[in-house]
Amino acid sequence: MASLIELLQGIVGAPNVLTAAGDMAPSLADWRGRYHGTAQAVVRPATTAELAAVVAACAHAGVPMVPQGGNTGLCGGATPLADGRAVVIGMGRMNRVRALDVDNGTICVEAGCTLASVQAAAAAEDLLFPLSLASEGSCQIGGNLSTNAGGVQVLRYGNMRELVLGLEVVLPDGRIWDGLRGLRKDNTGYDLKHLFVGAEGTLGIITAAVLKLFPLPRARATAWVGVPDPRAAVHLLRLMRDTCGERVSAFEIVGRSALELVLAHIPRARAPLARGHDWGVLLELTDPQ
Ligand SMILES: Cc1cc2nc3c(=O)[nH]c(=O)nc-3n(C[C@H](O)[C@H](O)[C@H](O)COP(=O)(O)OP(=O)(O)OC[C@H]3O[C@@H](n4cnc5c(N)ncnc54)[C@H](O)[C@@H]3O)c2cc1C
Repeated sequence: MASLIELLQGIVGAPNVLTAAGDMAPSLADWRGRYHGTAQAVVRPATTAELAAVVAACAHAGVPMVPQGGNTGLCGGATPLADGRAVVIGMGRMNRVRALDVDNGTICVEAGCTLASVQAAAAAEDLLFPLSLASEGSCQIGGNLSTNAGGVQVLRYGNMRELVLGLEVVLPDGRIWDGLRGLRKDNTGYDLKHLFVGAEGTLGIITAAVLKLFPLPRARATAWVGVPDPRAAVHLLRLMRDTCGERVSAFEIVGRSALELVLAHIPRARAPLARGHDWGVLLELTDPQ
């Protein structure tokens, strides 16, 4: 009888089943080196059908699976356990933009697309995909959805949960759940896609998503405001919202110690204000006009 590894090789091709320690190493630890694990193999499917067959084979063999996107997560969710039983499923080859609907303001992408590539695909059509985080060059849409990522523009556009209209998911037994919809006014039944958002891959592996796009901002103003305490920052936020409405797209409070770390360790960084404050607010206003 064929071993699980042979079955997986038959599904995705031998070059996409990594079993040598050196080949698997980048997938067996998080990027900060805080979590370490081992695995039978790292498998890299290229299509939803391949992934479904991989999941069915692992489920049949009783082998745990760990989906992995860009492996930029900070809490070890993409790292397998140390017992070596798991198969890591690398999503990076599922990186196609399936469709971009300019009129509906939606993009349908595979889960292995990096966040930066989705932002770029939207920008090429004069549209904005607003999720933005410092790991955007490496993290993937499937990871963003599975962690319900936030980033710097949550105030205006919401977390990943607010940015998704539809999902395609491979369920734990290998069946494919097709919830890829771009309809905004969808009032039918249970909204099952939300079970998979923020689930860290525990309920299924996301293979594709329909995401919301927005008008690209034409005007942008950024300011650093010194404030005495967090209460004053909240007051400032209220003031900004009252006067500028939804143009407030980013509002981050930064303590003095965090700013001092930046000044100490980042070459050519300089204090934004001459007088020191205990707290600073980095805020941004944007407008499509
Ligand atoms: C410099 C830096 C800045 C960051 N800033 C932010 C920030 O501002 N806001 C924020 O929310 N996070 C932030 N993060 C954390 C991290 O980048 C995000 O959580 C990101 O969304 C993870 O995406 P990933 O593709 O790297 O996922 P991974 O780390 O690969 O995986 C994360 C989790 O999702 C699961 N998973 C991955 N792909 C799939 C899939 N296709 N289907 C099902 N489950 C899947 C994994 O099993 C794991 O549980 C930051 C990280 C770094 C390094």
